Amino acid sequence: MNTMVLTCAVTGAETTREQNPNLPVTPREIADAAAEARDAGAAILHLHVRDEEGKATQDLKVFKETMSLIRKKTDIVIEVTTGGAVGMTPEERLQPVYLEPEMASLDCGTVNFGEDYLVNTLPEIRIFAREMKARGVRPTMECFDLSHVYTALEMIKEGLVEPPFHFGFVLGVPGGVPWSMDNLLLFSRLAPPEAYWTAIGIGGKAAKASIFGALAAGGFIRQGFEDNVYYEKGRLAAGNAELIERAAAISKRAGFTLAEPGDVRRMLKLKEI
Ligand code: ZN
Repeated sequence: MNTMVLTCAVTGAETTREQNPNLPVTPREIADAAAEARDAGAAILHLHVRDEEGKATQDLKVFKETMSLIRKKTDIVIEVTTGGAVGMTPEERLQPVYLEPEMASLDCGTVNFGEDYLVNTLPEIRIFAREMKARGVRPTMECFDLSHVYTALEMIKEGLVEPPFHFGFVLGVPGGVPWSMDNLLLFSRLAPPEAYWTAIGIGGKAAKASIFGALAAGGFIRQGFEDNVYYEKGRLAAGNAELIERAAAISKRAGFTLAEPGDVRRMLKLKEI
């Protein structure tokens, strides 16, 4: 299959304007960034939102407003985060799922996150998976550690996640599994053979390398300011779209066709919106 799905993670929870002044923060800026990423070749938007002070929030109202602004501008598939930010409660993090988005991230375990840690116990992961399933929300099973892949398989075994499966392999979080081709291959080989997966490299080096890793190993690509704010060493990206443009150009040169949002909706059997 020579189709490449590009996801853009435009904002994230931790990235700041100090790191890159072009970071989209307000609902309107995020909607603009989503439309620009779509024009550059992205089919999926991975969505975090911020409060009026620019801090990460899982507030239903902010998600609702942002999603409706995005919908007015572009047909990009929306994947909301349920990872939220360090220190948030599970109840807080789950909120955007109640808006019944097409997709949502599903963190599959606990992991060190720099000097902090993200907690996802098995009972919590089950609740998240169940709430998504009940609303027809397609989960992206995010794995930051090898054990998370096994937890994802357990969710599948328990029937809490149904096909088609989509994994996100997150490599390069400080304190988690570092980026390497070996690690990416190990993760991807453990996923069911029919599963789709997206490589997510954190930090400039890993984010760029993940483009080539995904192309070589049969996965999809994610880029964006959540993962990396640099275009190259010492040069900040002008915007999320610039990072997507590069991934799109490399994919095309490698003989891949970029998936449109409609292709992703068919591939991952997303619900009608
Ligand atoms: Zn995220």
